[in-house]
Amino acid sequence: MPKVAIVGGGVSGCACASVLLKDGADVTIFEMGRGFGGRASTRRTREIPGLLVNHGAPIFDASNTDFEPLLSSLLEAGAIQKWSGVYASLEASTSDVSVEKSVMRYMGTPGMSSICEKLAEGVTRQAQTQVTGFEWNSETWTLYDRNQQNLGTFDWVVVTGNSLASPRWRQTFSTEPPLVAAAETIACPELVELVNAAGALGTEPVMIAMLAFAPEASECLKKLPFNIAEVRGHPILGKIVLQELDGPCPAVVIHSTSTFAEENKKTFGSTSTAARLGGPADSNAEEIVIEAMVDAFSQVVKKHIGELPTPIWGPHLHRWGNAFPEALQGDQMYAEVPQVHFSMCGDFFSKPGVEAARIETAALSGVEGANSILKHISPSVMKPNL
Ligand SMILES: Cc1cc2nc3c(=O)[nH]c(=O)nc-3n(C[C@H](O)[C@H](O)[C@H](O)COP(=O)(O)OP(=O)(O)OC[C@H]3O[C@@H](n4cnc5c(N)ncnc54)[C@H](O)[C@@H]3O)c2cc1C
Repeated sequence: MPKVAIVGGGVSGCACASVLLKDGADVTIFEMGRGFGGRASTRRTREIPGLLVNHGAPIFDASNTDFEPLLSSLLEAGAIQKWSGVYASLEASTSDVSVEKSVMRYMGTPGMSSICEKLAEGVTRQAQTQVTGFEWNSETWTLYDRNQQNLGTFDWVVVTGNSLASPRWRQTFSTEPPLVAAAETIACPELVELVNAAGALGTEPVMIAMLAFAPEASECLKKLPFNIAEVRGHPILGKIVLQELDGPCPAVVIHSTSTFAEENKKTFGSTSTAARLGGPADSNAEEIVIEAMVDAFSQVVKKHIGELPTPIWGPHLHRWGNAFPEALQGDQMYAEVPQVHFSMCGDFFSKPGVEAARIETAALSGVEGANSILKHISPSVMKPNL
């Protein structure tokens, strides 16, 4: 059975794993975060057991027919459901709200993490494991974690993000990006070209401030004429997301603009993976950022709800340094270098009708990347059939 390592437990990695697993491959997903889901994950806390906060993508739409089989299987399994909220835009200067005409959207149930939990069912999963070393041994790859622990030897490797190739790696970890280092040691120009192209992609960051309230606050929050609003014309606020208004813990997730996140790029939530791996966060700077975001939110919603109720949890900050990546040139949903048994997939791919930086894109990329790998490996033999 061919062994495949997937680096990254977001939607693309888990979608890729689900296809490979069905075809009999022995798949392991390595995820550096505490849980799976990546930018489509749900925050939980021991302090308030019922609290579920989707602090990345809150919902998603589906416009491509190729996505339908996966969408239907997730719906059937109860991992997602149709989203029935009101999507709107809010003009910052007047707080006027215009409701968007209805588009079919979906959400994970009970939270967005359910998408990846369902897709990765049956797959070997290793969380809190950051892959930082790739060694090509002419037929197989050996992977290493940040403590140089050997993570195993695999017939094929799939990397589902560009951070391992990006110059941003040098700023955070003061070492060469692992894929750049690996490509340099292997005399394979196609791998060098792919790694350089992926590493050069730009990205838009987003800051998130999360607050949860006692159930009584829901009456007040329900006075807002939307569930999700894109904020127009505000230097700090990008989007306001109301969640679980009828649940035990109504929550508000405030998304910043990319400009605000860029201006505060040294600040990230103290519980984020970046803080855990890259060093301690500056708590003073964090408080200033949180205050600016919550104040801005309170101001733009005042006309509708008056004073904001006091939260029982938060506000907590999370920084998505790579919230919305640019797309790699080309119209293919994945890239691969079969001679060194290497693939990349993720939401930084696109093709006509499928934009980058969306859940649907990530899922399609994982599925199409896996289908292509299956053409190269034969599940019935250990050795890739190239
Ligand atoms: C704030 C926000 C709002 C969004 N809103 C929407 C929306 O409304 N609709 C929509 O469709 N999309 C939305 N998106 C985008 C959507 O979330 C992403 O397109 C999608 O989740 C990307 O999935 P992915 O698998 O490509 O990447 P990711 O989810 O980023 O997964 C990659 C995973 O790899 C892991 N990883 C990285 N390096 C390593 C390593 N070295 N070792 C181990 N693991 C590693 C990461 O921790 C991560 O979990 C939003 C995103 C954000 C951040």
